[in-house]
Amino acid sequence: MKNVNNPTIKKLLEKYKEISLLGKVNALLGWDLNVNLPRQASAFRSEQSAYIAEVITDKWLDSKFRSLLEKANSEKDLTLEEKAIVRNLNFTAKIYYKVPKELIIENEKVTSGAFIDWRTAKEENNFKKFQPHLTKIVEIDKQIAEHLGYKSNPYDALLDLYEPELTAAECTRLFNGIKKELVPFIKKITKSKDYTDQIKFINGLTHYPKADQEKILNYTVEKMGFDFSRGRVDISAHPFTTTLGPHDIRTTTFYSETDFRESFTSSVHETGHALYELGINSDFASTPLEGGVSLGVHEGMSRFWENMVGKNPNFLRFVTPIFKSFYDKQLAGVDEAELIKAFDLVKPSLIRIHADEVTYSLHIVLRFEMENEIINGKIAVKDAPEAWREKSKKLLGVEPKTDSEGVLQDVHWAYGNLGYFPAYAMGNLYGAQVLSVMQKKVNVDKELLRGNLLPVKNWLDENLHQYGSLYFPSELIKKVTGKPLDYTYFTEYIIKKYSEIYGIATK
Ligand SMILES: [Zn+2]
Repeated sequence: MKNVNNPTIKKLLEKYKEISLLGKVNALLGWDLNVNLPRQASAFRSEQSAYIAEVITDKWLDSKFRSLLEKANSEKDLTLEEKAIVRNLNFTAKIYYKVPKELIIENEKVTSGAFIDWRTAKEENNFKKFQPHLTKIVEIDKQIAEHLGYKSNPYDALLDLYEPELTAAECTRLFNGIKKELVPFIKKITKSKDYTDQIKFINGLTHYPKADQEKILNYTVEKMGFDFSRGRVDISAHPFTTTLGPHDIRTTTFYSETDFRESFTSSVHETGHALYELGINSDFASTPLEGGVSLGVHEGMSRFWENMVGKNPNFLRFVTPIFKSFYDKQLAGVDEAELIKAFDLVKPSLIRIHADEVTYSLHIVLRFEMENEIINGKIAVKDAPEAWREKSKKLLGVEPKTDSEGVLQDVHWAYGNLGYFPAYAMGNLYGAQVLSVMQKKVNVDKELLRGNLLPVKNWLDENLHQYGSLYFPSELIKKVTGKPLDYTYFTEYIIKKYSEIYGIATK
């Protein structure tokens, strides 16, 4: 690899390559599980995957690897790449080196039991069934935080597991800005003159054949610059993207024959993840600089494509005739403004995964506040359902009638992943800040109106994708945009776009 000359780092790279290769083998097993697996094969598959995960853990815990990393930590005069390699290895290794193995095993036991009872609790709308599990999970997460270490807030240690260096104080600063701007703006939208949450051509009855959706999707994905000789698109119940190698990125989509928006937006989203991975400097393959740098930046790229490109009114103007050529009967009499409102419908709702671009971040703010207060003992687990209802009312203006559509709706807590959610909202902020800079070089609206997506992809390749995990998110955003992360790019973008769509005066 270029710019790596230090002998200790070179040895570390050799050892890391084994970890990386095994990780890709496990990713292939996971892809196959989600796309192809016969029903009766799941037990054996999980045995295979668990075995590979164990071998990977052993490689991290290997005493030679550990002492090499310790040595690397005291090396002087390292290059940018060498420093990033050491930093990334320390980042991933901390869970193996700082948290006792017994606690990790206990965590696995607790969460696998929790998952089963969470599912029934959600089906039966019975929080009490999940409550003892959540109490244990919070206890274990607090212990994990103590082992990992933090300055003043234990929740910081959990946030940092998913988004490097993110803190609760930073989330509070950014999320308060989002709240201040978007809570009143959403009210303006729903009270605007022609507001309706009904779409006459998506009504549960009108039929949009899968074969047509597939053609539109392949056309769009190709226009985005996805290289089918370096990846595949398949079908799975929950769309996802996985990296099996530097020239093998797999995405999946899901077809709903009563709502053609679903496969379109999910494909554009997943292709955004794929383009990030495909655009990374190939010199970084099988090294600690491989892959997108964080969950938040990855979501930043996928949401950028989904919302800022795919649901950009100008791009929707470009695709309207395409949709209409396939669905001439279903969309008879539908004009482009109606199609734009169908894709960019703003509707405060209870369920995060169905949320639109404007309300989505507020669903995350709610989860961030809940987690931060639970970890710091300000909300008791038994009071979580009530706290959720209050926050939902304040932030979204809607109050869940059942816990199934409130505190029990997401699987993340059952998996023990407290600290994971904020990365989703960070993604929106990264995307908007990147767009603000891109617009100085690329006339995004004009290109999208003509269906030209390559200038956008090429800009991202050159200015962001190529860096892979060379820079941590806060450095990367400064490198790409010249400024530290702020919420104003996102709120200004939202207010401008949706004021136009809903005819709201901005002054
Ligand atoms: Zn995503």
